[in-house]
Amino acid sequence: MFGKRINLFKLLGFQVRIDFSWIIIAVLIAWSLSTGLFPFQFEGLSTQTYWIMGIVGAIGLFLSIIIHEFSHSLVARKYGMPMKGITLFIFGGMAEMTDEPPNPKAEFMMAAVGPISSIIIAGIFYAIYSAGVAAGIPKPVNGVVQYLAFINALLAAFNTVPAFPLDGGRVLRSVLWGIKGNLRWATRVSSFIGSGFGVLLIVLGVLNFFGGNFIGGMWWFLIGMFLYSAAKMSYQQLLTRRALEGESVRRFMKTDPVTVTPDMTLDKLVEDYVYVFHHKMYPVVSDSDRVEGCVTTRQIKEVPREEWNQKRVRDVQVKCSEENTISPDADAIKALSMMNKNGESRLIVKEGDRLAGVVALKDMLKFLSLRVELDT
Ligand SMILES: [Zn+2]
Repeated sequence: MFGKRINLFKLLGFQVRIDFSWIIIAVLIAWSLSTGLFPFQFEGLSTQTYWIMGIVGAIGLFLSIIIHEFSHSLVARKYGMPMKGITLFIFGGMAEMTDEPPNPKAEFMMAAVGPISSIIIAGIFYAIYSAGVAAGIPKPVNGVVQYLAFINALLAAFNTVPAFPLDGGRVLRSVLWGIKGNLRWATRVSSFIGSGFGVLLIVLGVLNFFGGNFIGGMWWFLIGMFLYSAAKMSYQQLLTRRALEGESVRRFMKTDPVTVTPDMTLDKLVEDYVYVFHHKMYPVVSDSDRVEGCVTTRQIKEVPREEWNQKRVRDVQVKCSEENTISPDADAIKALSMMNKNGESRLIVKEGDRLAGVVALKDMLKFLSLRVELDT
């Protein structure tokens, strides 16, 4: 679900993208509004009017969330934190940080500005709505404005709950971090509250659903699920980052990896290498000791079995690229995130043209679990 992203536009130096899942959510929101909330609140309008109101409402919500996320990004930039951009995904937005905040104050300011900006947006919409009522603006138009005032106030309230990684949870974490000076402990406490709040929402969602409030119940359930897993994941990520901090790829790589030559047949590759060593990736090294690329079981699978005795490694090998090759001095974290992105569990480690080794996910994980175990 996450990963397929569409670039929308660039504003103030930040790339704004939407995750594919957001399109589904946007349609669900427009549908909930035009078949649920608006017909209930404003009786006697046409179906078409409800749909226009629903779509405009969803777009308004979308723009409100972008402003909310921008406020985070601008404050983060002020504190010198590198931001990758803003991605709108399943439940709202995410200002993407590449690292943890540098200190409690930076995190506090960064998090607190989110709900504050939503409150301001709600206030502006409410002022427009009040002026609209006084001026006798038609119900459909003013109804959407009223909805946007309400939904932004709700966003602010929801984000104030001290459940990490919601904004309120980040504020809590920064305060705990400031008091004790221990980011790990602060993250553990606030993400525990975060996952607890997630479970509460899931239970509320189920109760609502069986109580007959299907749409509302479904929303609470989904938001609860999302929050629960996000809280768990954030803590895991922090542990990983801490445990691997300052370690280079060199520490984990195998320096004498099993390699294959470009003129080897796929038959031989499978029989004498894949079935013997059980690795999924083999660096391809030519006679002159130059790394030409690598071959993985994925490429072998693409060739029909009856052609394995004719096709050679050079016919299917992939070149070394930023996706499968890393330098021995690179951060181990970088290797992990590359593996995470391309779904491979092994990377080629290259020093100049020469093969320095292979780094495997399982070796890094072994190190990680030992370090986490010894470090509690
Ligand atoms: Zn926020």
